[in-house]
Amino acid sequence: MTESERAAMTDKRVKLPPRVPMPEQPAETRVDNFLEVPQGYTAAQARQEAQRCLQCRKPKCMDGCPVQVDIPAFLKLVAAGQFAQAARQIKASNCLPAVCGRVCPQESQCEGQCVLGKRGTPVAIGALERFAADYERENDLVELPEPAPPTGKRVAVIGAGPAGLTVAGDLIRLGHDVTVFEAFHQAGGVLVYGIPEFRLPKDIVQAEVDYLRRLGVKLELNQVVGKSVTIDELLDEEGFDAAFVGVGAGLPQAMNIPGENLGGVYFANEYLTRVNLMKAYDFPNHDTPVARGLRVCVVGGGNVAMDAARTARRLGAQAVCVLYRRSRDELPARAEEVHHAEQEGIEFRFLCAPLEFAGDGTGMVRQVRCQEMELGAPDQSGRRRPVPKPGSETLLDANLVIVAIGSGANPVLTRQTAGLNLNRRGYIVADKAGATSRKGVWAGGDIVTGSATVILAMGAGKTAAKAIHHYLLHGETEPKTDESKAVA
Ligand SMILES: Cc1cc2nc3c(=O)[nH]c(=O)nc-3n(C[C@H](O)[C@H](O)[C@H](O)COP(=O)(O)OP(=O)(O)OC[C@H]3O[C@@H](n4cnc5c(N)ncnc54)[C@H](O)[C@@H]3O)c2cc1C
Ligand code: SF4
Repeated sequence: MTESERAAMTDKRVKLPPRVPMPEQPAETRVDNFLEVPQGYTAAQARQEAQRCLQCRKPKCMDGCPVQVDIPAFLKLVAAGQFAQAARQIKASNCLPAVCGRVCPQESQCEGQCVLGKRGTPVAIGALERFAADYERENDLVELPEPAPPTGKRVAVIGAGPAGLTVAGDLIRLGHDVTVFEAFHQAGGVLVYGIPEFRLPKDIVQAEVDYLRRLGVKLELNQVVGKSVTIDELLDEEGFDAAFVGVGAGLPQAMNIPGENLGGVYFANEYLTRVNLMKAYDFPNHDTPVARGLRVCVVGGGNVAMDAARTARRLGAQAVCVLYRRSRDELPARAEEVHHAEQEGIEFRFLCAPLEFAGDGTGMVRQVRCQEMELGAPDQSGRRRPVPKPGSETLLDANLVIVAIGSGANPVLTRQTAGLNLNRRGYIVADKAGATSRKGVWAGGDIVTGSATVILAMGAGKTAAKAIHHYLLHGETEPKTDESKAVA
């Protein structure tokens, strides 16, 4: 496209072509199955959508990408029909494009910055990232890079979530010997135990894990570091030269209100792990049961709450209500998840907070006593604080309640690791490069930042891998810059 054509396209008087919609399973069908909701672009749709990109000289979209994918370059390849090359271009910066294309909050990242969004719809960058990665995988075009000469250095990665998998992928390519220790029987972290199949099919995560295995990464599953083995043992006795801790933030946060111990009240992490990782939706073919409520209340407004609500709907709930103590404008979930939840008949009660879960006399939950809220002055996070409205209590019927108000740092590993500084909430204190207070130990992802996003965990993994590589080659950490302050 010439400069003048580009100028014409950006002229306010010119109507831009609309975004190509992605086909989806209709809401009335999908509430009865766990198959993926958005069904992906065809090749023709992908090319048409990628051609909307203006190939900006200073691409704003890249400012919004935490791992700096060269977005215009990959979009140009998609537009030209060079799909596998597009996937490789993305993978130069992002080793999990099929995952990120599906679950990144693009509206507040790359697509939120795209210039086309100023007077229309931004380029569907996430959908095109997904398309390129799926095309490469489904057509068996994934290429293994040339192995680097072995350095003889061994790295232990603890936790096989997006942070740990990124570190493992980057360090194995640099010739180090990498072993990942994972507490669960399957690698993937939240991608396998939290995010449901209808949003992120598990065979996609498995393909990414298999790719790392083919590169030479060793996986030690069912290993809870801090219990079965400690970091001290790995470094001092088992011959590892460095360790990366990416154990996430999976400790459920309680509401501390009466009735939380009643039967039928779940923490979202347990509920979703039972359904996703342990396949409770396929009971009794899989031997994990899960309560199937007819009237379900989900407490919270993030992605976890949306996943729990939509899962409960698929498990047969007739009515699912999400209770959120702030207003719609503050909902932290991805816009697409909220939209899909509403299409699936999930009801939202904004400015509403539970006070108590009331039982039926047999130890099972029967009702939720709620209070209306109004928004007061902003709190430390800058969001307006919800304040209870006196005399506004209501009772909602519910025989299943799922609490999804956030999660915290699990102390199993951290309290067994001497010399590891933690902040007051139990998260590991690390500098911008991921270095902790303990020599030879790096950390990144949710265990440093608190619950965040897949792409931020991957970004932290990339930065830490670079620093670990330097340490392994030079025996010391890189000199700190002014910027490398503690981030926790
Ligand atoms: C239900 C749900 C939905 C989400 N949806 C989105 C979304 O749509 N988009 C988005 O960007 N983000 C989403 N997130 C957040 C995102 O998944 C996380 O920010 C991201 O997974 C963090 O990556 P991580 O590698 O730090 O940790 P995790 O993904 O939590 O992985 C940590 C891994 O470490 C393992 N582990 C823990 N302790 C030990 C130990 N002692 N020894 C060995 N292994 C251990 C765990 O089993 C786990 O496999 C969601 C989170 C949840 C819970
Ligand atoms: S900002 Fe939008 S139009 Fe410009 S290069 Fe990025 S995706 Fe293309």
